[in-house]
Amino acid sequence: MTTTTSADATSQPFQAEVAELLHLMVHAVYSETDIFLRELISNASDACDKLRFEAIANPRLVSDGEKPSIRITPDSAANTLTISDSGIGMDRQELIDNLGTIARSGTKSFLARMSEAKEGAGLIGQFGVGFYAAFMVAEKIVVTSRRAGGDESFVWSSSGGSGFTVEPAAEGEGRVSHGTTIVLHLKDDARKVIEPREIERNVVA
Ligand code: ADP
Repeated sequence: MTTTTSADATSQPFQAEVAELLHLMVHAVYSETDIFLRELISNASDACDKLRFEAIANPRLVSDGEKPSIRITPDSAANTLTISDSGIGMDRQELIDNLGTIARSGTKSFLARMSEAKEGAGLIGQFGVGFYAAFMVAEKIVVTSRRAGGDESFVWSSSGGSGFTVEPAAEGEGRVSHGTTIVLHLKDDARKVIEPREIERNVVA
Protein backbone atom coordinates (compact mmCIF):
# COMPACT_ATOMS: atom_id res chain seq x y z
CA MET A 1 0.00 0.00 0.00
CA THR A 2 1.47 3.33 -1.01
CA THR A 3 -0.10 6.64 -0.17
CA THR A 4 1.05 9.54 -2.27
CA THR A 5 0.93 12.72 -0.26
CA SER A 6 2.35 15.12 -2.82
CA ALA A 7 3.80 14.92 -6.28
CA ASP A 8 7.04 13.41 -5.05
CA ALA A 9 6.69 12.41 -1.41
CA THR A 10 5.40 9.00 -0.46
CA SER A 11 4.31 7.76 2.95
CA GLN A 12 4.48 4.02 3.40
CA PRO A 13 3.66 1.62 6.18
CA PHE A 14 6.44 -0.56 7.54
CA GLN A 15 6.36 -4.31 6.91
CA ALA A 16 4.52 -5.79 9.93
CA GLU A 17 7.71 -7.30 11.40
CA VAL A 18 9.48 -3.94 11.22
CA ALA A 19 6.61 -2.23 13.03
CA GLU A 20 6.80 -4.92 15.70
CA LEU A 21 10.56 -4.52 16.00
CA LEU A 22 10.32 -0.73 16.22
CA HIS A 23 7.75 -0.99 18.95
CA LEU A 24 10.23 -3.08 20.91
CA MET A 25 13.07 -0.63 20.23
CA VAL A 26 11.09 2.47 21.13
CA HIS A 27 10.11 0.92 24.44
CA ALA A 28 13.40 -0.83 25.10
CA VAL A 29 14.64 -0.31 28.60
CA TYR A 30 18.07 -1.39 27.69
CA SER A 31 21.29 -0.18 29.21
CA GLU A 32 23.55 -1.10 26.32
CA THR A 33 22.12 1.43 23.92
CA ASP A 34 25.57 1.89 22.40
CA ILE A 35 24.89 -1.16 20.25
CA PHE A 36 23.10 1.15 17.84
CA LEU A 37 26.25 3.15 17.06
CA ARG A 38 28.24 0.03 16.23
CA GLU A 39 25.43 -1.12 13.92
CA LEU A 40 25.37 2.22 12.08
CA ILE A 41 29.17 2.35 11.78
CA SER A 42 29.19 -1.21 10.50
CA ASN A 43 26.57 -0.33 7.85
CA ALA A 44 28.59 2.77 6.86
CA SER A 45 31.73 0.70 6.60
CA ASP A 46 29.95 -1.93 4.44
CA ALA A 47 28.69 0.90 2.22
CA CYS A 48 32.27 2.13 1.69
CA ASP A 49 33.41 -1.42 0.86
CA LYS A 50 30.55 -1.86 -1.63
CA LEU A 51 31.53 1.35 -3.39
CA ARG A 52 35.16 0.28 -3.59
CA PHE A 53 34.05 -3.04 -5.08
CA GLU A 54 31.66 -1.55 -7.66
CA ALA A 55 34.29 1.01 -8.63
CA ILE A 56 36.60 -1.75 -9.85
CA ALA A 57 34.22 -2.35 -12.77
CA ASN A 58 33.01 1.23 -12.96
CA PRO A 59 35.77 3.71 -11.95
CA ARG A 60 33.52 6.66 -12.85
CA LEU A 61 31.64 6.04 -9.61
CA VAL A 62 34.58 7.44 -7.66
CA SER A 63 35.74 10.00 -10.21
CA ASP A 64 35.04 12.77 -7.69
CA GLY A 65 38.13 11.52 -5.86
CA GLU A 66 36.33 11.51 -2.53
CA LYS A 67 37.99 9.09 -0.13
CA PRO A 68 35.78 6.58 1.67
CA SER A 69 35.07 8.06 5.07
CA ILE A 70 32.71 7.87 8.03
CA ARG A 71 32.00 10.98 10.08
CA ILE A 72 30.25 11.10 13.44
CA THR A 73 28.97 14.52 14.52
CA PRO A 74 27.31 15.14 17.88
CA ASP A 75 25.31 18.35 18.31
CA SER A 76 24.32 18.87 21.91
CA ALA A 77 22.37 22.08 21.23
CA ALA A 78 20.12 20.31 18.73
CA ASN A 79 20.33 17.00 20.62
CA THR A 80 21.23 15.15 17.45
CA LEU A 81 23.87 12.64 16.45
CA THR A 82 24.78 12.48 12.77
CA ILE A 83 26.56 9.57 11.09
CA SER A 84 27.68 10.25 7.51
CA ASP A 85 29.48 8.05 5.07
CA SER A 86 30.76 8.53 1.53
CA GLY A 87 29.86 4.97 0.57
CA ILE A 88 27.63 3.48 -2.08
CA GLY A 89 24.44 5.27 -0.92
CA MET A 90 20.86 4.25 -1.66
CA ASP A 91 18.39 5.30 -4.34
CA ARG A 92 14.71 5.81 -3.61
CA GLN A 93 13.74 2.15 -4.05
CA GLU A 94 16.67 0.94 -1.96
CA LEU A 95 15.67 3.27 0.87
CA ILE A 96 12.15 1.85 0.75
CA ASP A 97 13.29 -1.77 0.51
CA ASN A 98 16.25 -1.68 2.89
CA LEU A 99 14.80 0.56 5.58
CA GLY A 100 11.21 -0.65 5.44
CA THR A 101 11.60 -4.42 5.59
CA ILE A 102 13.73 -6.94 7.44
CA ALA A 103 16.00 -9.03 5.29
CA ARG A 104 18.52 -10.31 7.79
CA SER A 105 17.87 -13.68 9.30
CA GLY A 106 19.32 -12.65 12.67
CA THR A 107 16.60 -10.06 13.14
CA LYS A 108 13.91 -12.55 12.22
CA SER A 109 15.27 -15.02 14.78
CA PHE A 110 15.36 -12.20 17.32
CA LEU A 111 11.65 -11.51 16.81
CA ALA A 112 10.82 -15.21 17.03
CA ARG A 113 12.77 -15.55 20.28
CA MET A 114 11.16 -12.41 21.70
CA SER A 115 7.68 -13.70 21.01
CA GLU A 116 8.24 -17.16 22.46
CA ALA A 117 10.37 -16.22 25.46
CA LYS A 118 10.27 -13.41 27.97
CA GLU A 119 13.99 -12.98 27.87
CA GLY A 120 13.60 -9.28 27.28
CA ALA A 121 15.91 -6.76 25.82
CA GLY A 122 19.11 -8.72 26.46
CA LEU A 123 18.41 -10.39 23.16
CA ILE A 124 18.91 -7.14 21.28
CA GLY A 125 22.63 -7.35 21.91
CA GLN A 126 22.77 -11.05 21.22
CA PHE A 127 21.16 -10.91 17.78
CA GLY A 128 21.90 -7.40 16.61
CA VAL A 129 18.94 -5.73 14.97
CA GLY A 130 20.79 -3.50 12.53
CA PHE A 131 19.68 -0.02 11.60
CA TYR A 132 16.47 -0.26 13.61
CA ALA A 133 18.45 -0.38 16.89
CA ALA A 134 18.83 3.39 16.49
CA PHE A 135 15.21 3.78 17.55
CA MET A 136 16.33 2.81 21.06
CA VAL A 137 17.83 6.29 21.36
CA ALA A 138 16.14 8.35 18.63
CA GLU A 139 12.58 9.62 18.48
CA LYS A 140 13.02 10.53 14.84
CA ILE A 141 15.51 9.42 12.20
CA VAL A 142 16.21 11.24 8.95
CA VAL A 143 18.32 9.48 6.32
CA THR A 144 19.54 11.43 3.29
CA SER A 145 21.17 9.30 0.64
CA ARG A 146 22.47 9.38 -2.88
CA ARG A 147 23.39 6.25 -4.78
CA ALA A 148 26.80 6.39 -6.44
CA GLY A 149 26.15 6.99 -10.13
CA GLY A 150 22.69 8.40 -9.40
CA ASP A 151 21.79 12.01 -9.95
CA GLU A 152 19.30 12.59 -7.15
CA SER A 153 19.35 12.48 -3.34
CA PHE A 154 16.38 11.21 -1.34
CA VAL A 155 15.29 11.73 2.23
CA TRP A 156 13.81 8.88 4.26
CA SER A 157 12.23 9.91 7.53
CA SER A 158 10.43 8.11 10.34
CA SER A 159 9.39 8.69 13.91
CA GLY A 160 9.26 4.98 14.51
CA GLY A 161 5.48 4.65 14.39
CA SER A 162 3.82 2.61 11.73
CA GLY A 163 5.52 4.07 8.70
CA PHE A 164 8.04 6.29 6.97
CA THR A 165 8.20 8.86 4.20
CA VAL A 166 10.57 9.14 1.26
CA GLU A 167 10.96 12.27 -0.83
CA PRO A 168 13.52 13.93 -3.06
CA ALA A 169 16.02 16.05 -1.12
CA ALA A 170 15.55 19.79 -1.42
CA GLU A 171 18.04 21.69 -3.51
CA GLY A 172 21.29 22.11 -1.55
CA GLU A 173 20.30 19.43 0.95
CA GLY A 174 22.64 16.44 1.00
CA ARG A 175 24.81 17.85 -1.77
CA VAL A 176 27.19 14.98 -2.06
CA SER A 177 27.94 12.82 -5.07
CA HIS A 178 27.30 9.61 -3.16
CA GLY A 179 26.78 8.35 0.35
CA THR A 180 24.42 8.44 3.28
CA THR A 181 23.80 10.84 6.16
CA ILE A 182 21.77 9.63 9.11
CA VAL A 183 20.53 12.22 11.60
CA LEU A 184 19.29 10.81 14.90
CA HIS A 185 16.99 13.20 16.75
CA LEU A 186 17.62 11.87 20.21
CA LYS A 187 15.11 11.14 22.91
CA ASP A 188 15.54 13.44 25.91
CA ASP A 189 16.79 10.61 28.06
CA ALA A 190 19.35 9.56 25.44
CA ARG A 191 21.46 12.72 25.64
CA LYS A 192 24.39 10.83 27.05
CA VAL A 193 25.09 9.18 23.70
CA ILE A 194 26.42 12.47 22.32
CA GLU A 195 29.04 12.89 25.01
CA PRO A 196 32.40 12.68 23.20
CA ARG A 197 33.64 10.21 25.81
CA GLU A 198 30.74 7.86 25.03
CA ILE A 199 31.31 8.11 21.28
CA GLU A 200 35.03 7.47 21.62
CA ARG A 201 34.38 4.48 23.82
CA ASN A 202 32.19 2.93 21.10
CA VAL A 203 34.25 3.86 18.10
CA VAL A 204 37.53 2.71 19.55
CA ALA A 205 36.08 -0.45 21.12
P1 ADP B 1 22.09 -5.42 7.58
O1 ADP B 1 23.17 -4.38 7.67
O2 ADP B 1 22.40 -6.61 8.45
O3 ADP B 1 21.75 -5.85 6.18
P2 ADP B 1 20.38 -3.28 8.48
O4 ADP B 1 18.98 -3.25 8.98
O5 ADP B 1 21.39 -2.66 9.41
O6 ADP B 1 20.75 -4.79 8.18
O7 ADP B 1 20.46 -2.55 7.10
C1 ADP B 1 19.62 -2.97 6.04
C2 ADP B 1 20.21 -2.59 4.70
O8 ADP B 1 20.14 -1.18 4.51
C3 ADP B 1 21.69 -2.95 4.52
O9 ADP B 1 21.85 -4.30 4.12
C4 ADP B 1 22.09 -1.99 3.42
O10 ADP B 1 21.71 -2.49 2.15
C5 ADP B 1 21.23 -0.76 3.70
N1 ADP B 1 21.99 0.27 4.44
C6 ADP B 1 21.93 0.53 5.76
N2 ADP B 1 22.77 1.54 6.09
C7 ADP B 1 23.37 1.92 4.93
C8 ADP B 1 24.37 2.93 4.58
N3 ADP B 1 24.92 3.73 5.50
N4 ADP B 1 24.71 3.03 3.28
C9 ADP B 1 24.17 2.23 2.33
N5 ADP B 1 23.25 1.27 2.58
C10 ADP B 1 22.86 1.11 3.86
